[in-house]
Amino acid sequence: MDKTISIFSNINTKSILIKDVLVSKLLNKGYSVIYNPSEDALLNICIGGDGSFLRAVHDSKFSQVPFVGINTGHLGFYQEILISEIDTFIDDFINDNYSISKLALLQGIGKPKTNEYDLYALNEFVIKSKNSSIVHLDVYIDDYHLERFAGDGLIISTPSGSTAYNFSVGGSVLYHELKGYQLAPIAPINSRAYRSLMNSIVMPDTSILKIVPDVDDLKNLQLITDGNVTDTGIAEEFEFKIAKRYINKLVFNPRWYWINIKDKFL
Ligand code: NAD
Repeated sequence: MDKTISIFSNINTKSILIKDVLVSKLLNKGYSVIYNPSEDALLNICIGGDGSFLRAVHDSKFSQVPFVGINTGHLGFYQEILISEIDTFIDDFINDNYSISKLALLQGIGKPKTNEYDLYALNEFVIKSKNSSIVHLDVYIDDYHLERFAGDGLIISTPSGSTAYNFSVGGSVLYHELKGYQLAPIAPINSRAYRSLMNSIVMPDTSILKIVPDVDDLKNLQLITDGNVTDTGIAEEFEFKIAKRYINKLVFNPRWYWINIKDKFL
């Protein structure tokens, strides 16, 4: 059986050091190592912080090969393995001492057809202004017009992304395996002129969210996917939904999600 492992690392000195240590341990155990994504690999190991994990997921085009993260950054929500746990991690991996969690992805579709593009996000999509102007966004859930939002923007996040940008704007933490997704407002305006929902809402994974920007705002808007501005630009209409595809994450401690919440926020 092919025993190839793909390694993704950021370029921090600490990560490069850990990568060298890890690679020599893996070679000693009979694995071969590559530094690019491959669907034939056994495992994708991401060294760094959450940003490295997100980059690896995007660079691999949402590979079905399971991901695991070794944390060399500050916050490591996706990075379950600490540097001090590398030996235990390798032993647990060899002995199949882990489970696999499916992490949902969001799919975004920009319309009209002439400007159509498909995008996937592990954390979230954000629609917000490029400058400090207020944006006006019509929000439809399953074709029902819910609100005409006015404010800084909207965040559409997966359960595993609920602890990221969504959390900073007061959105709820969703258990990572919950079947749903969340829409959270950034600085919503509620006045005699505007009526915007002040809180986030959680939708079932079957719902389709449509967001239609005001035409006058189009040139001031940007779409951000997992922290990166998309170069495809803004569309006249967006459809967001839970994607049919997902990624697989190795889980060594079944309580890792709650441990993260307590360790990193409390
Ligand atoms: P970055 O270097 O700017 O780091 C952003 C922070 O978000 C890091 O501390 C990272 O650990 C944390 N983070 C990322 N994913 C997380 C998750 N699922 N749960 C909890 N924390 C998480 O950028 P990056 O590391 O490339 O991460 C991109 C993410 O940054 C975006 O997807 C977005 O969620 C987040 N972000 C947050 C804010 C905010 O909280 N005000 C603003 C912009 C972007």
